[in-house]
Formats: sequence, structure tokens, C-alpha cells
Amino acid sequence: MAPVETVADIDLLIEARWIIPVQPAGLTLERHAVAIHEGRILAVLPIDDARRQFRPREIRPLTDHILMPGLVNLHVHAAMTLMRGLADDLPLMRWLQEAIWPAEGRHVSPGFVRDGSLLAAAEMLRGGITTCNDMYFFPEAAAEAFSRVGLRAMLGITVLDFPTQYAADADDYLRKGLAARDAWRHDPLIGFTLAPHAPYTVSDRTFERVGGLAEELDLPIHIHLHETATEVADSLRDHGLRPIARLDRLGLLGPGLIGVHAVHLSPEDIDRLATHHCSIAHCPTSNMKLASGAAPMAAVAERGLRIGLGSDGTASNNRLDLFREMHQAALLAKLTTGDAGALPAHRVLRMATLDGAAALGLDDRIGSIEPGKAADLCAVRLDDVDTLPCYDPASHLIYVLGRESVSDVWVAGRQALKDGTLLQISNTELSSLARLWQNRLRQ
Ligand SMILES: [Zn+2]
Repeated sequence: MAPVETVADIDLLIEARWIIPVQPAGLTLERHAVAIHEGRILAVLPIDDARRQFRPREIRPLTDHILMPGLVNLHVHAAMTLMRGLADDLPLMRWLQEAIWPAEGRHVSPGFVRDGSLLAAAEMLRGGITTCNDMYFFPEAAAEAFSRVGLRAMLGITVLDFPTQYAADADDYLRKGLAARDAWRHDPLIGFTLAPHAPYTVSDRTFERVGGLAEELDLPIHIHLHETATEVADSLRDHGLRPIARLDRLGLLGPGLIGVHAVHLSPEDIDRLATHHCSIAHCPTSNMKLASGAAPMAAVAERGLRIGLGSDGTASNNRLDLFREMHQAALLAKLTTGDAGALPAHRVLRMATLDGAAALGLDDRIGSIEPGKAADLCAVRLDDVDTLPCYDPASHLIYVLGRESVSDVWVAGRQALKDGTLLQISNTELSSLARLWQNRLRQ
């Protein structure tokens, strides 16, 4: 008697020319399929086996594509997209004090954050980003925007020790941010971090408060850290300690801490971060554009630290493009070490996916194509003659392809981008929002 095969009804079967699951590491599968049901990955298996085992409601053939996990943008200020190109060719402190902070003082509001975050979310999804780690004001307005287009997001409960349009003092920032978290706590795609802006804008007392809350509420801490040489020098002058040593003394270093930039690191700084299992959000383009420096990520990777990639805001980048960040991270590591083998392609891809997810404490849910994980996926076309031939798809993702090759994106099994077109929002709406705010900011 022939064995009886049970055929399972599922929502979606994606059949791909190549799949790079990221975990197991270094693997590229050919002519495999991903079976998806109720937003989750059920199986990754050869296409012929998948057709026998599953009866999908929808099949998406990707005949000339690479299917990979959705990218994780580990550092962004989404709403700042409304200030894209507002002030360029300035160093960090002049850029902040002369251009960005005054513009924010005049314009930041819930509407600004909602519209700016909507533009950012659309740009990120189109470029294969399925999760972002955002830091800005009015997080409830950002959550609304991300939720509308179906982008997974971690929102910062931003804290500063000076007043802005959003809040009066540290207590006020925390109270408002925690209220936003309460309002969104049941949304499966929205999470929160505590986001003390930077060592130079937050006092010891506030840091201690943030550390206590992080422990009590089990939230990651998202902070700009060692971005410029001036930041380190000022901290030595004002506190007698480098910023990382100061955070260590205040009890903030731990596996939940995401230090953004980490450009100016001494061997002791790297040791402290490694001892406490901290993560780094590496933002190579922003660091180059603001002339902050070259973050020593090859050395940091060798020490075993977790590194994810971030775009930073469009005001300092000026794109939310993780394909570009992957390219820059790989090249910068080689340039600064004189070693062409520094940060190879599969490693950089892991930084932009699974390691970013792990930094956010989400690696049990996203970051790789494995059964049981959410179907956060990105498909990249490889049929353009400018991208051929292709001997190694992983190397193509880092050194050849750009975000314009992204064709399809799913977040938790829900399609957000299909053949290059966003499904939840129109380009007409997005461009009219951009024009509206450009007119206001120009005044
Ligand atoms: Zn930033």
C-alpha cells in the first residue's frame, strides 16, 4: 500500500530561485520554497516537496530572485524624513544647533511625526526593511504611521534633560513615552525601547531612572554613544569619565543596551561593551557624512560584540537604505583594516538581519528564515543585465544590488510591497505629504 501523504492547506507558498535564510550561517538554498500560514513560517524545503505537502491559497513564484529575511534598521529617526537635505555638509554639533534643533522647535508636532514617519515607513518597506528601531518625539504618532503601512517597529521612549515641543523635562518625557507604550501594548508589530538621547543631553540622575525602568519593564535601551571625538573629550572634562565608563558606573550597560555609532572606542571601551554583552548600531553613512569618523567595527566584531546596521535619519544620511549601509559597512571595514577579508558578505547580511533583531531582543521572532518565525521577508530581483552574471547571491546582495532591486516584501505574512508597488499607501498621497511639509519648513 502506498503511504498516504497528508496535504496541508496554507495561506502562501513562496517559491524562490535562491533563499538565503541567514540561519544556518553561510547557507544559500537553490529552488526552495517557504510555506507560510497565519503570518508564520511553517517550513523551508525543496519546491517539489513543498508542492506535494502543501495546498496554498496563493503561490508567489520568484523565478529570478533571492528571498532573504526582511532587513532590520537598527537606528532611525523616521519623522526627520521631512528634513531630508535641509542642512548638509556640516559637522554634527553645528548641524544640530544651527539647523535641526531650530527647525524642530518650530515644526515638530504629532502631525509632523505622523506624516514624516509615514514617508519613512514607505521608503523603508520599498527598500526591503521590515523592522525599524525608531527614536523621536510623539511616538504614538509614529506608531500610527508604522501600523498603517504594516512596518514592524520599536519606538523610543525618548528622554532629554531639556525642554522641547514634546515635553518639559525628563519626568515629562518618560510619562508621555510610557503612556504611548500602554496605548500600543497589544499591537504585535509595535514595541518600545527606552531612548535617552545621548550622554551629552542626559544627566546622571535621569540615566539612573532610565536604568531602573529598563530593568523593571524589561525594555532595551537605545542611545547615541561615542559618536564624535568631542563627545568623549567633553565627558572627560565634565564627568572625569568617558561616556561608556560613565554609563557603566551608572549601571546602564547590559545585553539590552544598543549603543548607536560607537565611532571613537578605546580598547577599554570595547572591553566594557563586550563584558556586558551590549550591542552596537553601526551607521557608516551617517558617520562619514557628518565626518564623525570610521567606527572600528572589524575589531569590535572580532571581540564578539553584536553589531546591527542603522541608517540614522534622512537628515544626516540622506536615505533610509540598508542596502547602501551593508555596502558601506563592508567597504569601510576593509579600507580601515587593510584586510579585504574584513566583514565578508554573509557576515554583513547577518548584521542587517539577525544581529539587529537580536539587539532588539526579537531574534526568537524575526531575523532569519526558519520554521516558527514570523514571515518577515524580502525578495530581490536578479534579472537585470547589469546584475549578471551571478556566481554567489550573498555577495551580490552586498556588492552589486541596490534597494531598487527589491520586488516584494512581507511583514508577518502580510504583503506590503508587490512587484515594486506599495499596497497600503499610494505614491500620490506620499508625494503630496512631502510637498506640504516642504512648503511649511521652507518658511
Ligand atoms: Zn541618530
